Amino acid sequence: MSYKCKICGFIHEGAIPDGYYCPICKTTLFDFEKIEEEPRKNNKEKKKSE
Ligand SMILES: [Zn+2]
Repeated sequence: MSYKCKICGFIHEGAIPDGYYCPICKTTLFDFEKIEEEPRKNNKEKKKSE
């Protein structure tokens, strides 16, 4: 999971700690948006235990 700064586009990887601010533009975490990983399309093709 990553967070992207809506102001400058900086991407912070991992969880955002309390009191975090953007190292580039100094905005607060409220201007970060969560980036969800793209859902992988599984064709319900789970590997069965061999
Ligand atoms: Zn920023």
